[in-house]
Amino acid sequence: MRIFISGPSGVGKSSIITEILRRNQDFVLSISYTTRPSRPRELDGKDYFFVTREIFEDMKSRNEFLEWARVHDNLYGTSLSWMEGRERQGRNILLDIDVQGVRQAQQKNSPGVYIFILPPSIEELARRLARRGTEDDEALRIRLRNAKNELRSWGMYDYLVVNDDIAGAVRDVQSIISALRCSREEIIERIPWLREIE
Ligand code: 5GP
Repeated sequence: MRIFISGPSGVGKSSIITEILRRNQDFVLSISYTTRPSRPRELDGKDYFFVTREIFEDMKSRNEFLEWARVHDNLYGTSLSWMEGRERQGRNILLDIDVQGVRQAQQKNSPGVYIFILPPSIEELARRLARRGTEDDEALRIRLRNAKNELRSWGMYDYLVVNDDIAGAVRDVQSIISALRCSREEIIERIPWLREIE
């Protein structure tokens, strides 16, 4: 199964994703390609594949991305072959992509479930962004403006999870995954004899 998770920056998405991955070891996080420079402690091939704009454009022109997007002036894309390789190994995929990417994945009828993480309020989101302290004032302003734009896209998602506190949001996302594990599509793959009852 593919689970797409979006949410504006500062909403606490990465903490939720880290905990969900720890609890669901059959899931891997899709590693995106990006032209953004790496931040301290980020590793190439683990957090992202950090590539030049030329390489990114080249991959784009060869249709190697399920979706791609420009976020805060950097390009990000999901490699279709990387993801399908993992799926062939039997892994479920968690994708952390923005609303533009979700729109493209949905247009391509990519199977998957779409979850949007919401802040409790815009004010709280602004506070969380400022606390993070990785950017200067101008970058912060851009992120907040982009966050509001992203929030307007809530209608594209199957589930909306409010991140009041991390533990509660993790519980909600975990409940969605647990329910999906009992979906007809998942069960019929795991229990083939079900189709063959005489
Ligand atoms: P950051 O630069 O903080 O790591 O990520 C910024 C935003 O880019 C996040 O909202 C994240 O969801 C989005 N993002 C990361 N990878 C991809 C991707 O492959 N495709 C799309 N559409 N968005 C991505």
